[in-house]
Amino acid sequence: MGKVMIIGAGGVATATAHQLVKVPKVFEEVLIASRTKEKCDNIVKKINKGYFHTAQIDAMQVDELVSLIRDFKPDMVMNLALPYQNLAIMEACLQTGVSYLDTASYESPDNPHLYYIEQWSYFDKFKEAGITGILGCGFDPGVTGVFTAYAAKHYFDEIHYLDIVDCNAGDHGKYFATNFNAEINIREISSPGIYYKEGKWIETKPLEIHRTIAYPEIGERESYLLFHEELESLVKHYPTIKQARFWMTFSERYLTVLEVLQGLGLTSIKPIHYEGMEIIPLQFIKAILPDPATLGENYKGKVSIGVQLKGIYQGKERSYYIWSNLDHEKAYKETGTQAVAYSTGVPAMVGALMYMKDIWKKPGVYNVEQFDPDPFLEAMPKYGIDWQEAIDIPLPIDKAEQQ
Ligand code: NDP
Repeated sequence: MGKVMIIGAGGVATATAHQLVKVPKVFEEVLIASRTKEKCDNIVKKINKGYFHTAQIDAMQVDELVSLIRDFKPDMVMNLALPYQNLAIMEACLQTGVSYLDTASYESPDNPHLYYIEQWSYFDKFKEAGITGILGCGFDPGVTGVFTAYAAKHYFDEIHYLDIVDCNAGDHGKYFATNFNAEINIREISSPGIYYKEGKWIETKPLEIHRTIAYPEIGERESYLLFHEELESLVKHYPTIKQARFWMTFSERYLTVLEVLQGLGLTSIKPIHYEGMEIIPLQFIKAILPDPATLGENYKGKVSIGVQLKGIYQGKERSYYIWSNLDHEKAYKETGTQAVAYSTGVPAMVGALMYMKDIWKKPGVYNVEQFDPDPFLEAMPKYGIDWQEAIDIPLPIDKAEQQ
């Protein structure tokens, strides 16, 4: 039983807030604080529960965060704003002795990269303060790490090959839109692809490597190799891994528009001068694109995200695939958001639930795969995300490699 403070009021925060309501005995009081208070008020209006409160905050400012946390006295702060705010919020949690959860690794606004190193460096300080930091508790990162921990616990003595596969086969009917924060999304996709092989990180050109991968209940989709931060933590926590890759699907339209935007310099994060003002082209593009939180209404189709693994169990080779499929229309009906926001918001809530029930509570800073996966995967279907598994089957990624 206790209180949580959510930072951010976008699609992910909306989905999480709708799930917190389902467990009022655990989440007795909730504060949603974000840069634009009106967006927090809109979420709370829809939820219509007296124990939800709102506040305005600039989460880049540690002092503001500390003062709001001291006022509200939450048990946990959930960072559902942007990865830019991770370190400021962790610092404020440290100063106030409150536990922390987020859904993506820290990124610096002017130096695009996704690395856990800055957040891991808080381990000793969090441990001494007796507070828990749960890092990357969305779907990917998040459930993909929990899936891997589950596979390692129940099905493998050693994991050797890991492929995370993320397919959005939905159609939102818009000319061009991103499924979560456009700035973060476009930065991620236009960065070099990076994968892990035999102890080394291998860099590719953005979207250079692609395969036609078959997804359950969806079929074949062109899938592109990207860097994703959970590769970094999974390789660290499962040192037997020889190769780790992350694949994501994009439609032809999406890639064509992105290429034009890049060609024109509109995805750049370097400021330009326009009529006496300084503008960051990518932030301008974000401002004119549809708000991801509003995409749900006409979104149709499915999302499938999973982990395909190979390794050794009791001396024999083994393959294993574990995945969840989500439906955009179902997600919208339940929370008013599309399935990508839903797929992040639900695991964030389940992670907070694990913490509040003392199941995922240990002083220090941890990635999700460092906790017991069983209670998390037992709880997740109760809050809308089912999962399935297949043992010792030919893996779709292997079939794609042979084509
Ligand atoms: P949105 O852009 O819809 O929402 C971000 C929210 O953060 C907005 O309400 C924004 O405020 C707020 N915000 C931004 N800067 C500040 C600040 N300085 N202080 C306070 N609030 C701030 O993004 P989404 O909800 O779609 O996604 C949120 C994050 O979730 C993504 O950036 C991504 O990192 C993560 N994510 C993780 C996934 C996973 O599976 N692990 C998948 C998808 C997303 P304002 O409204 O004023 O702009």
